[in-house]
Amino acid sequence: MQELANTPTVDIARLAELNIHVFLEHYAIKNQQGLKLEFKDRPFLWDIFEDMSPLQVVLKPPQIGMTTLEILKSMWVAKNLKRDIIYTLPTQTDVNDMAGGVINRLIAQNPILGEWIKDHDTVNQKAVGENMIYYRGTFTKKQAMMVPSGLNIHDEVDASDPSIIEQYETRLQSRSDGMRWYFSHPSVSDYGVDKYWKVSDQKHWFALCPHCDKKNYLSWSMSDQSDMSINFESGRFRCKVCKKDWTDEERAFAIRKGTWIKKYRDKDFSGYWVSQLMCSWIPASKIIADYKDKGPEYFYNYVLGLPYTGGDAKLTQQHLFSNLTNREADVADVDERVVIGIDTGLRLDYVLGNARLGLFFQGDSDTYGPLDTFMKRWKNAVAVMDAGGDLIGSRAFAARYPGRVFLAYAGTDRKTTELTRWGQNEESDSVTYDLNRMWQLCVDEIRTRKLPLQGTENDWWEYWLDWKNMSRIKIEDSVSGMFRGIKWVRNGRNHRASATLFWRIGMMRYGTLEQASLIGRNEPIGNMGYESKDGTTILPLVDKRFNL
Ligand SMILES: [Zn+2]
Repeated sequence: MQELANTPTVDIARLAELNIHVFLEHYAIKNQQGLKLEFKDRPFLWDIFEDMSPLQVVLKPPQIGMTTLEILKSMWVAKNLKRDIIYTLPTQTDVNDMAGGVINRLIAQNPILGEWIKDHDTVNQKAVGENMIYYRGTFTKKQAMMVPSGLNIHDEVDASDPSIIEQYETRLQSRSDGMRWYFSHPSVSDYGVDKYWKVSDQKHWFALCPHCDKKNYLSWSMSDQSDMSINFESGRFRCKVCKKDWTDEERAFAIRKGTWIKKYRDKDFSGYWVSQLMCSWIPASKIIADYKDKGPEYFYNYVLGLPYTGGDAKLTQQHLFSNLTNREADVADVDERVVIGIDTGLRLDYVLGNARLGLFFQGDSDTYGPLDTFMKRWKNAVAVMDAGGDLIGSRAFAARYPGRVFLAYAGTDRKTTELTRWGQNEESDSVTYDLNRMWQLCVDEIRTRKLPLQGTENDWWEYWLDWKNMSRIKIEDSVSGMFRGIKWVRNGRNHRASATLFWRIGMMRYGTLEQASLIGRNEPIGNMGYESKDGTTILPLVDKRFNL
């Protein structure tokens, strides 16, 4: 009998160190509102929560409870898998909000977390057991500091600064067992989370139809009815196999009986696609209303959890090539004003043009030799170049041509709506420009055929390849859904597109004396659909140079 009393019972606390779902159950973990965490309405989060694959990506709409789960998961990993973790959010403000909001409330609701995390007053780091979690924003260089990490978690990837995320990746890759998890609403194709989704096993949530017992995943297509899970006429979800409508209860049942199914085997990344179609608390009527009322970008990114590939987000090949003159390239006369736009980096990429011709030449070089040749050939040429790439060479080039070379710095002047601000006095060789609005201006002018390209498709093919990599994304606040602004991002080399932007800046000051419609100087930019950070229309640019 004595022996029986000593029979080891299952040690639940020990199991909770090994299995994260046991941990949730055993400690009755609650969310920040004090409600016990459960997966009844969000069965698709169960597997994501316990997935400990080193490389993970989740495409998801906002507000499905992911952040709460990821915070709990990160704490559990720090404590039980004994890893130091870097957890990034777009900005430091987001970090402050999360620390004061979700994290501290989770600790207050769950005594076990309080035992793990003794001191939780620090916003930027928490000691969990013997390990650390560092919380970082991505919009200042200082943030990518030298802290050890065995797991990087990147939340809201598509609203974050990609170069900072790259820095974290590079550092982690030096560790053979480094883990990286990404989750975000997607924005555009081949950018942010979509890059990782494309190389993942692409798991889809297959719901189980209560009528035909067949599994199919929920999707939206206006053009292909066989791929449409909502019956537009009845305003209900339906099975894509038997085409029978589902009541709200049947839809909830179908989703609850669902399962993740991989599209690809043997991929490094474990990928999940979550959409609002899978959220049974969001009715079909709401989704149809969003389709009708919100813009297509919003609907794709925030409702369907998919990257948006529609017209506004990209400059198309057709748009660009509609600017071709399709005859032999004309070139500026030696006494004409010419503006040279230069992007500096590993190589020098440049475009040449003026108001009479538009752009008449483009290319790249390892040295400043060709640029010197241009400056000598056209005595009236001015150059605008990226101040941030080749720091030494660009300054030396500027020194060779006093008053003719301008270094361009990205930055916005919050006091005005002007796109550029030219330096005064000792800074007269510099210009500050509003990066995203300059991109938008260039793209709009190309779309409206205001940028003649001298020559044929053959002359401008490489130039197109650089434009092809540019996409526009919308930044919205992940909690309030408020529009924060637009951003042009690249997913590959964009040097000659960038050179065009510098050329265009130069044209604002040196292009309008010529008689040409290139600048569109009578067209207030407020009419061209620019949006300011708060979504209001920007007033027309008032500049006396434009009111001849
Ligand atoms: Zn069915």
